[in-house]
Amino acid sequence: MLLDTFGRVATDLRVSLTDRCNLRCSYCMPPEGLEWLPKPELLTDEEVARLVRIGVTQLGITEVRYTGGEPLLRRGIAGIVAATTALEPRPQVSLTTNGIGLERLAGPLAEAGLDRVNVSLDTLDRATFKRLAHRDRLDDVLKGMAAAQAAGLTPVKVNAVLMRGINDHEAAPLLRFCLERGYLLRFIEQMPLDAQHGWTRENMITADEILDLLGAEFALAPDELADRGSAPAESFAVAGHERDGRPATVGVIGSVTRPFCGACDRVRLTADGQIRNCLFATDESNLRDAMRAGASDAELAERWRAAVRGKRAGHGIDDPSFLQPARPMSAIGG
Ligand code: SAM
Ligand code: SF4
Repeated sequence: MLLDTFGRVATDLRVSLTDRCNLRCSYCMPPEGLEWLPKPELLTDEEVARLVRIGVTQLGITEVRYTGGEPLLRRGIAGIVAATTALEPRPQVSLTTNGIGLERLAGPLAEAGLDRVNVSLDTLDRATFKRLAHRDRLDDVLKGMAAAQAAGLTPVKVNAVLMRGINDHEAAPLLRFCLERGYLLRFIEQMPLDAQHGWTRENMITADEILDLLGAEFALAPDELADRGSAPAESFAVAGHERDGRPATVGVIGSVTRPFCGACDRVRLTADGQIRNCLFATDESNLRDAMRAGASDAELAERWRAAVRGKRAGHGIDDPSFLQPARPMSAIGG
């Protein structure tokens, strides 16, 4: 198993399938984009499948989430998902996407065995979407979400990041939109992971503020049925609303102001084959080169174990010595 020196066990693997993206969300990437990883540096579909197999069959990984960059830009995605859902023991398999292309791919992904999707949606206003993501693609995202629901990739989870003066007036409208459609909305505090280093504490909309903004329109109560466990989202029941016969909920992920590092069960594999034991790690372990130099499954598993063993206690954003990682979120895999 993947154990660190603080007794945490990593069972949730996040795999970035590409660092490329067709949006430019301003909390993530500059409008001009980034220098993408050269293709030969990226893991092939077979290499991704091999490392995921080692994680699941030898290291105790029980959940695999594909992300990026935009994972739907990866041509082989349905095949990668099918290879993952064919593993024994079968892991839970999910996808985090901006939703563009999901209208076409939701069916094939469901057929490949995908269990769930998280779609990122920060605004319901076309002009704000264009301002925030630098592309006019709101309609594609909404169609993608509907297609995911129709394909049974449920509950469709929605991730929203609020930015001061841009979309922070949309907290309640986003919740209303999701409640009406049976989507499960979670707000994520903005983290210092953008390539252009534009994050400031003052501009971050905190979990407390998010709850205040929602409280203006909805009555929220801590969700008694939810066990937060290792889940980063604190869950709140929304009075007067139901989803699937039980109180509807909304999640708030206070990564910065309410960190959950002590219960973290995640480990990450980047699109170029590096193991990262934390979003905010400053070092990585290169499985790609070891694999290409002929390492056996057992040797790769041992390198992976060593990488997780060195995980720090927490992200340290509040520490004066905090350093933003060299790679932005889009290259790490969010
Ligand atoms: N492109 C896909 C998407 O947008 O869902 C997957 C990758 S994206 C990096 C994964 C998630 O990270 C998205 O929900 C996005 O909103 C979130 N994200 C990106 N940059 C962030 C930041 N600086 N702080 C908090 N969340 C961020
Ligand atoms: Fe692309 Fe996702 Fe980053 Fe937005 S958050 S720019 S969709 S990788």
